[in-house]
Order: sequence, then structure tokens, then C-alpha cells
Amino acid sequence: MKSINPANGELIGEYPVWTEQQVTEQLQFSANAYKEWRETSFDSRKKMMLNLASGLKSDKEIYARLITNEMGKPISESTAEIEKCALVCEFYAERAEEFLQPVPVETSASHSYFRYDPLGPVLAVMPWNFPFWQVFRFLAPNLMAGNVGLLKHASNVQGCAIAIQQLTEEAGFPPHVWSTLPLKSSAIEKVIDSPHIKAVTLTGSEEAGRAVAGQAGKQIKKSVLELGGSDPFIVLADVDIDDVAAKAIKGRMQNTGQSCIAAKRFIVQTEIIKEFKDALVSRIESLKVGDPLDEATDIGPMARQDLREELHTQVEKSVQQGGVLVCGGKPLDRVGSYYAPTLLENIKPDNIAFQEEMFGPVAVLVEANDVDHAIQLANDSSFGLGGSLWTKNIELADKLVPRIESGAVFVNEIVKSDPRISFGGIKNSGYGRELGKPGIHEFVNVKTVWIA
Ligand code: NAP
Repeated sequence: MKSINPANGELIGEYPVWTEQQVTEQLQFSANAYKEWRETSFDSRKKMMLNLASGLKSDKEIYARLITNEMGKPISESTAEIEKCALVCEFYAERAEEFLQPVPVETSASHSYFRYDPLGPVLAVMPWNFPFWQVFRFLAPNLMAGNVGLLKHASNVQGCAIAIQQLTEEAGFPPHVWSTLPLKSSAIEKVIDSPHIKAVTLTGSEEAGRAVAGQAGKQIKKSVLELGGSDPFIVLADVDIDDVAAKAIKGRMQNTGQSCIAAKRFIVQTEIIKEFKDALVSRIESLKVGDPLDEATDIGPMARQDLREELHTQVEKSVQQGGVLVCGGKPLDRVGSYYAPTLLENIKPDNIAFQEEMFGPVAVLVEANDVDHAIQLANDSSFGLGGSLWTKNIELADKLVPRIESGAVFVNEIVKSDPRISFGGIKNSGYGRELGKPGIHEFVNVKTVWIA
């Protein structure tokens, strides 16, 4: 597997793929490690988890640089990603014991309750777009819960996978409590089939989710899917246009547009759509596109050349289907897989830019006749990850929130993940939750105990 710096096309690392024999051995090591790990106290797990947070913080510049070099994220965002990983470690270090306390239930038994026992080795298949954060939001709750983890990371961020492995070792986690499987996706079916693997989580595309969950289903193993999204950003006519346009661009262009919870469809009421468009254009024009290692850069290269080509094909199709290009709409003529920040308007529900996930710096404007139409458009998607609603009328917002079909609704705020609140989708955005209290309950055996 190769890591290629998307800012300049340079090969920065090559990693051999493991043989079947190596994988078989690792699965056995993980199963053995679990037997001891599950018996450790919350206190000892907590110490290691806090060490891990310290390790992240003390070398955050090194890890941030690694992220940026492997997948092109602007360095200021890479640094923030590492800081957030430390936060999630601290959050579960402090709260896991409380979240996993047995829950007494009143019945006719003399004593009855349910308790949360670990499941065993859990496989995590992870994407490149937040190569540390996606991993840590699985790692922290699951190691605290007494599971052991095996990571199959995306092929283009193997350097990040190795760094995370080293971090866990330096934090004092015993061998094989956290392991890395340098494998291509074609080898994953067999790993899921292994009797040592008790469950699997995947963050990635719909296609990968179907493959992994299908295999897990065949083996009757629990799965969690965190898949793509096409989040609506619903703007009602009463907003402060400039302010909301600035948030819209931030929500859409973070991570060079390669975020599952990016605001992907700007659904705006007719009365303000022209003014809102103009505000978006001026924000887009002020974005600084450039070297992702420069602190001032807003937009770096896309993570891979093929992803840029895929995005451009979608933009071209969208225009053929009636979408109107307002700005951008082309690969940039410079070294690296840069794509011009783009705005498309006149996007209708039958347009590819409405129906598919646009995973890059492309914003789309959709016109809504009124509030009901805006909600109808928001829900007219196969995805249901997040959504945001922008209005000064909080009473109205409260009434609209239950009508929005998504795993999260943010009112007057960009959709974001936070260790304290649960995260996940409905519809083709997946199922199950990460983070918060629900996140630590995904891969545990909720065991009923009845004492007569
Ligand atoms: P991807 O191509 O689906 O890859 C994700 C991971 O799945 C990688 O490790 C990949 O390995 C592996 N994979 C791909 N096909 C597989 C298969 N058939 N069987 C087993 N494993 C397979 O997605 P991506 O391009 O890296 O990430 C972007 C997608 O992730 C977007 O759709 C985005 O919205 C979604 N995402 C969702 C969330 C969320 O929390 N909901 C968060 C971040 C990203 P290889 O790299 O070796 O192919």
C-alpha cells in the first residue's frame, strides 16, 4: 500500500500487505489478549487512556503533519483533529465506568439488573478523511469497555495507522489490546468470518458498508455503519444572511469538503436566495487555496487524484442535468490534486448533485418556496446523517426538528461531532451510534441478571 502526498504527488511511504498467516496469528493474539484485558479494572484502563491523551497532546505537531502529508488536510485542521482525539480519550477515561454501571430493575426477583459486559475483539474498518479522529472515537470507548480492537485503516493512510499503534504501546496498553491489520479491503471478508472477531464497525462509503455489513450479517455478528451523507443546510428567510453564509462555507469547505457531515445541500427560501448566493460567492472567493502545511491555508488538495476526478465527473453531470455553475467547477492547474472551490445553483431533486454525496469542495444551492417545501427537500434524500436549520424563530425550529430525517439536527450551528454527544445516521447513512453514552453501549453484551 502506498502513501502519496496529494499536495505534490510524491511517494512518502510504502507498506507491505500482511499475509494470511500473519493475519491468522494476529487474530489469535487478539483473542488471547482479550481474556486478560477484560479482567482489568477501570482504574488501570483509565491510566492508560489518559497516557494516550498525553501522548497525542505532547507530539501533536508530528501527528498533525503526518495527517496533512498523507491526505492533504490543512495543517490547522489536522492539529485540531489531534486535540480532539485527546479529548475523546479523556472523556471516556473519566466517564466509562459510570456509563457501564449495572442498572437495577425492579421485578419479582429478589435482585435483578442488567450489566454491560465486553464482547471481545472488534474489527474497525476506517476511512482516510479524519485518519486519527475516526479511529479514536472507536478506540477510546471500546478499550475502556474491555474490548480489544483491530484496525483496518484506509490504504492511503497507513502511516497514521502505524503512529496510532505506537501511541497505544507507549501509553502502556498491553500487547495486542490494540492492533493494526495492514490489509486491502479484499481481505476483510475473511477477517470478519474469523470466529475470533465478535463485531465490526465501518466508517466509509455506502458501497463498503454494504459489503462489510453483509458479511457480518452472514456470520450473525453485530455491525455499526457510519456512512456518507448529503446533509441539508436549511436557511429560512429571517436569518442574518452574511453571518449564515459564512457558516455555510465553513460547514461545506472544512477538510476541503471531504467530511461526511459537511453541509452539502444549501436549501434556501426564495425571498433571500439571490442575496445568499452573492454572500456565498464572496466567501468562496476569499478562501485561501494552497499548501496544506501553511497555517493560513483554508483549502488543500483533495486526498487522492482519483477522488478529484470522480468529483469533477459529478460536477460535469450536474451541469448537463441543468445545474448552473456559479464559480469553480474545475481541477486547478497546479501540481497536486487541487479542485477549485465550487458553487452550483438551480439544483433540483433529480440532479446528481442533489442525490449523490459530493465529497469535495462543491456547494450546491437549492431553492425552497416556503418552510414546508424546505423540509420536504431536506428529507428527499437517501441519506440521513446530519442537518442544520438556520432561523431566528426558535419556536418554529423546535417544531421543525422532529420532521427532519437525520441522526442529528443542529439549529443555528454547523453539524459537528463532539465526544459528549452521540453521532450517527439513519437511512443510507448507516446505523448505530458512536460517541457519548450511546457510543460505549454499541459493542457490549447487555446482560440480564435475575436472582430469584
Ligand atoms: P471507502 O472507500 O468506503 O473506504 C473506507 C474504508 O473501507 C477503507 O478502509 C477502505 O479500504 C475500506 N473498504 C472499502 N471497500 C471495502 C470493502 N468492499 N470491504 C471492506 N472494506 C472496504 O470510503 P472513503 O473514501 O475512505 O471515505 C469516504 C466516505 O466515508 C464518504 O462517503 C464519507 O461520507 C464517509 N464517512 C462517513 C463518516 C460517518 O461518520 N458517517 C465519517 C467519515 C467518512 P481501502 O482504503 O483499502 O479501500
